[in-house]
Amino acid sequence: MDGLRQFAGLFFAETTTPEALRDAYGKRPISILVVPGHDNISSGTAFGTLSESDLNLEMAYGLARVFESNPDFTVAVTRREQDGGYQEWFAEYQEREGEAITRFIEEKRKIFREAVEQGFVERHVAVERTDAPSRVAFDLYTVNKYAIDNGIDIVLHLHWNDYAGRRPRQVGKYSGFAIYVPDKEMPNARASRALAQNIAARLSHFFAPSDMPLEKGVIVEDQELIAVGSNASQERASLLIEYGYIYESQFLDRAVRAVILKELAHQTEWGLVDFFTTETSEVTPGIASILPYRWEESLSLPARDSEGVLALQAALALEGLYPPDGRSKNDCPISGNFGPCTRAALANFQEKYRAEILEPIGLKRGTGTFGKMTAETLNRRFGE
Ligand SMILES: [Zn+2]
Repeated sequence: MDGLRQFAGLFFAETTTPEALRDAYGKRPISILVVPGHDNISSGTAFGTLSESDLNLEMAYGLARVFESNPDFTVAVTRREQDGGYQEWFAEYQEREGEAITRFIEEKRKIFREAVEQGFVERHVAVERTDAPSRVAFDLYTVNKYAIDNGIDIVLHLHWNDYAGRRPRQVGKYSGFAIYVPDKEMPNARASRALAQNIAARLSHFFAPSDMPLEKGVIVEDQELIAVGSNASQERASLLIEYGYIYESQFLDRAVRAVILKELAHQTEWGLVDFFTTETSEVTPGIASILPYRWEESLSLPARDSEGVLALQAALALEGLYPPDGRSKNDCPISGNFGPCTRAALANFQEKYRAEILEPIGLKRGTGTFGKMTAETLNRRFGE
């Protein structure tokens, strides 16, 4: 067995490489297939009136708009924006290819099982899951085969996470984002992981990494998720992004959510563009799509669900002041809510720019309250 084991990870030839993807960039549009998780039949998780399936759809079209305005990419979404149903082209493909998809699934499962039995592939089960119900599995394998047949470059599956132990109206224990990628044995592993790293680097400027122990490090290899290609069923780069936990406050208010999803979409796009345009893995400087922003000096604090506070938190994050020392991004999310985290960070901002903000009015310490001097300094730095 040991003689065979050394081949683990090499059994499946690479079907997509970071090098080939980078080489194609700028020569032809890079095609992205966005798959908003779940559908109108099974809607995933929920919090109050917010259903994950709807949230995934809203995010998918946020991403689609961002990629549509970039000529280096083409983008398609598997479900319709207006009613969440499957696109006609997707339903037609599934109808036409039904038997071929069934054979595809059986063949991939068989080859993978045999490869494991013969010791060519190591079995890695990170999270014990019950198998996806057969209809859902069939839809996901349909996505994989569609992506292969149609030369899609990158598949992005969008989801929100949930904490299994919580009561319906309670928020759960964890927060933050995670990106699932194919296990290293898989033929699409290396390219998928490289993309995930660039996206994670961008998201991390503003958004908390998941604090769930199994998602430590943000990028999670998985051998079981059909979405990223279980049974070596996906040849194209494929990621499953959990943008957060569904009960996090910044996703609940409609107006705040719109701003946050737009920010998530831009950071995701910038991460992908980084992958194609930067040679090094150096940390990219942060930029936020919510900025520039012009603050009114009359911004009254504390405020909840406020765009002014969202922009303030993003600006403070770029200043390296938010979250304040000793607090994590999970403790202090970009939420649009002004509380102790933002007050402390704002006080530090006032002290950082004391000559502009504090000295003219004879103060020594930052107060964390919002006034004319603070608004002017923010507007000078982040207002255009
Ligand atoms: Zn989900």
